[in-house]
Amino acid sequence: MIENNKWEIVSCSLEPSELIVDETLFHTANGYIGVRGNFEEGYPSKYDTIRGTYINGFYDLSEVKHGEKLYGFIESKQKIINITDVQGIELFVAGDKFSLFDGEVLDYKRTLDMRTGVTKRHVVWQSPKGHILEIDIVRMASFVKPELFLIDYTIKSINYDGEIVFVSTHIGEVSNYFNPHDPRVAGEFEKHLSVTEIRREEHVDLIHSETNASGLKVTSAVKHIVSAQCQIESTSDTRSLISKIKFNIKAGNIEKLTKYCIFTDSIRYSDCAQSALCAMHEVTRMTLSKLYQSQEDYLNAFWEMADVKVEGDEKLQQGIHFSVYQLLQSVGKDKYSNIAAKGLSGEGYEGHYFWDTEIYMLPFFLLTHPKIAEDLLSYRYEKLDAARKNARMLGHQKGALYPWRTISGSECSAYFASGSAQYHINADIAYMFVQHYLVTKNIDFVVSKSAEVLFETARLWMDTGHYTGGSFRIDAVTGPDEYTCLVNNNYYTNVMAKYNLKWAVKCYELVKVHGDLESLARRIGLSEEEVKNWGEAYQNMYLPYDEELDLNPQDDTFLSKAVWDFPSTPEENYPLLLHYHPLYIYRYQVCKQADTVLAHFLLEDEEELSTIQNSFNYYEKITTHDSSLSTCIFSIMAAKLGDVHKAYDYFIQTTRLDLDNTHHNTKDGIHTANMGGTYMGMVYGFGGLRIKETGIYFNPTIPEPWEHYTFKVCYQDRVIKVHVNKRECVCELIEGEAIEINVRNNAYVLKDEIIIV
Ligand code: BGC
Repeated sequence: MIENNKWEIVSCSLEPSELIVDETLFHTANGYIGVRGNFEEGYPSKYDTIRGTYINGFYDLSEVKHGEKLYGFIESKQKIINITDVQGIELFVAGDKFSLFDGEVLDYKRTLDMRTGVTKRHVVWQSPKGHILEIDIVRMASFVKPELFLIDYTIKSINYDGEIVFVSTHIGEVSNYFNPHDPRVAGEFEKHLSVTEIRREEHVDLIHSETNASGLKVTSAVKHIVSAQCQIESTSDTRSLISKIKFNIKAGNIEKLTKYCIFTDSIRYSDCAQSALCAMHEVTRMTLSKLYQSQEDYLNAFWEMADVKVEGDEKLQQGIHFSVYQLLQSVGKDKYSNIAAKGLSGEGYEGHYFWDTEIYMLPFFLLTHPKIAEDLLSYRYEKLDAARKNARMLGHQKGALYPWRTISGSECSAYFASGSAQYHINADIAYMFVQHYLVTKNIDFVVSKSAEVLFETARLWMDTGHYTGGSFRIDAVTGPDEYTCLVNNNYYTNVMAKYNLKWAVKCYELVKVHGDLESLARRIGLSEEEVKNWGEAYQNMYLPYDEELDLNPQDDTFLSKAVWDFPSTPEENYPLLLHYHPLYIYRYQVCKQADTVLAHFLLEDEEELSTIQNSFNYYEKITTHDSSLSTCIFSIMAAKLGDVHKAYDYFIQTTRLDLDNTHHNTKDGIHTANMGGTYMGMVYGFGGLRIKETGIYFNPTIPEPWEHYTFKVCYQDRVIKVHVNKRECVCELIEGEAIEINVRNNAYVLKDEIIIV
């Protein structure tokens, strides 16, 4: 049960089916480490649970077994691994072990507080022997000191005088979750991490482990600080460390155990153990209240830019805050990591990064925290060599092809039809490099990174496509809709490739003026002739169009297929991917997610409004939204097309997807693209924001139930605040010099404030 409060998520449920979902919803992460919300003391053994701790970008390799292995099929893939378990703390009162499933629970509430950046469990518990304790457990993954995760365990004795025993565990023997019946999580049990050393140094317990195949190392360090005079007995075996902490308590007294946990890995640290010890000393020298304060200060600054305020709908406001907070919890802020499809909340999609980052999540960071957006793009730049290698594997002589799913840069998709064949990821990444330029005008970044990415992705289109009858065509690719695979001229792919090629040409000119074109061209062997070819290809790009229906067919054969028999498909057969062979699905007009409709959002000036409207009407009828990347786009486009009521309906489905577990798989992790989609639904959908070469555009609308809403965006060294109510739209310049903006198709110079009625 999730109560409504716009800054907090609350659950009082002890239902087993909800507890496993709450492990996801109440996970604690900071972009570097993520710890699922498991109970310190555990559950009854029959309860299903996914106990996990993850480091962003920390992976092992796992063999990919193909029944028939054809040329170029991947042999191994990376997967995020569950690392050392520091979550365990058992509490004993006069010999009774604290459990929410034993004795009597007099009060229970679990909270995620999105302003202070902590999760809390509050329990009043009566032990089987009748002793009553008030227990408060706070968890925090620090945004300021990313290696730190802490558990702050406070007990107040109500009626008990006597001994308290805590048993705190630090366990190196861990494995990943698997489910052979769901393609969205790993299918087989595999052990990935081995403990190489256990030691105790200066009251710090250290476990070093190494992955079995990727050769990566991780150190976890744990230190206990207890408020009371206590006795600590430590024991260990080859794979774990256990600390037994004993002290006396009196009725009315409060005591506290704080478990500081530090994680360091060999991707980022040359000496993991030394770095972990240093970090431990640093954080334990600070008071707890200072650590909490720094978390709150960080979040105050974050929300100052990121908050999207909606008045008149608390449930949605809560969902918006939750989405934005999850984006922050999930985002890697270094060149080694990115945003996994499930963030750091679970093992769904094996910790892989997809196109989700660029098309769904990066816009949020670009408009509110451009430095983080730059880190995400830098990650792609760093992986350019791996993308070149991937392109060669797929037979291309030139260019780079970003893998469909990856952690360290190589392809991890075992099923190429709906994986590697999604070449559009190249254009998606290129699109975001361009958006970054349009929003920041950071020409140095273009010269040092974007240009090379745009050139190499443009080359790939030239190597993939061909001319027939004077038009440039792209065959045998898969568009975003994974229910239609390996098609010729997917509209989305072609129009995005066109944009990619067009901007590669523009970047060439930009680098000519602002950078050292000669050395870049020499380094990657680029000729003027090639650039000329890009220009011709984009000008002649074939975009499927059906004159009779005045819409864009999804691909060359889409409209001639039979329409899926929706009336006879029972509710329980959705998502279709879990109930039908893919080949069966491919034969029909049925979409898993927005495809052409998404293209119309990203590149709206390519088509007439009537074509966009007709396409929306057509695809809406045949889209199942089995992917969580879909309803947000339909919401944005419904808003653009003037159907605010419909936009609002799609927006509700988007915003509450994980909180209400509407896709029934939140237990495997949050749907981070959908979280980005929530933000986009507000800002691009209702706010009508578009960033184009010609400037910044707003076209605001407001759903009936709302009083007003407000958001801020960074744009070319300015901060613009947009406030929309039922009568007017107010744009305010918060920072920076006057600038031209476009609101409802009129241009204004924004100096201080303009009010548009
Ligand atoms: C969607 C993809 C998406 C992936 C990861 C799939 O269900 O169809 O578009 O990239 O999930 O979120």
